[in-house]
Amino acid sequence: MNYEPQEIEPKWQESWEKQGLYRAQDFLDKPKTYLLVEFPYPSGAGLHVGHCRSYTAMDIIARKRRMEGINVMFPMGWDAFGLPSENYAIKTGIHPSITTKQSIETFRKQEKSLGLSFDWEREVDTTNPAYYKWTQWIFLKLFEHGLAYKAKIAINWCLSCKIGLANEEVTEGKCERCGGEIEKREKEQWLIKITQYAQRLIDDLELVNFPDRVKMQQINWIGRSEGSELEFKIKDSIEKIKVFTTRADTIFGATYIVLAPEHDLVSKIKSRISNWDEVKEYIEKFGN
Ligand SMILES: [Zn+2]
Repeated sequence: MNYEPQEIEPKWQESWEKQGLYRAQDFLDKPKTYLLVEFPYPSGAGLHVGHCRSYTAMDIIARKRRMEGINVMFPMGWDAFGLPSENYAIKTGIHPSITTKQSIETFRKQEKSLGLSFDWEREVDTTNPAYYKWTQWIFLKLFEHGLAYKAKIAINWCLSCKIGLANEEVTEGKCERCGGEIEKREKEQWLIKITQYAQRLIDDLELVNFPDRVKMQQINWIGRSEGSELEFKIKDSIEKIKVFTTRADTIFGATYIVLAPEHDLVSKIKSRISNWDEVKEYIEKFGN
């Protein structure tokens, strides 16, 4: 007998959906578990193999846990606000809500055809006002507690997307989205004071079931380190250079100090820089 996926799979997928096999039950007297995959950005291109790979891995765990009698919550959702849809809308004149809806439908259809055991009754879409009213509410709470604030900082600015990029979105000095040129620009930004929780973020890694490799990545990303701030005097100047070091005991071995091109001090001591033209050229290229 031949295996005919086009016949067998839709038949059983429909039956499983009708029976609600993958629905997480509320207030059930059973052990429970929550399995979460990273929600995709629904692009017009449809699913890529990376999505299938990670969702299949978690799907296996979800199915195993259900067989063990555990009440499993395994939801799917769409991280659907994105610059590609905005740029596409500018290019075609089609409202992003229309294209986003179409992309979500494609993604949902593809994920369902893979037979992934998501609880589709808990599907969320971040562009739905009923969803983002809560993210806005969270932001207001952070603001009220002084944890969301505005500051002028140098950011990675993509000249063609016209947007600030996270460091993770810059690959080899180019924009990860469009491959275009990046410039450092000083812009007023909303920032979240996550540094206030650095120690707790590190401590609480003990409470989650992450592989050690991932825990180490998190600790490195949080980037907390203990050290001292020292001030170096500049000869014949009232200006000082503040540096952070984890090894104050080795400071006598310092032979020079490098200022970042976007450092405030660079323009303040401009008149004392003998090769200003070269420095200026460098700042324009790599600074802000
Ligand atoms: Zn770009």
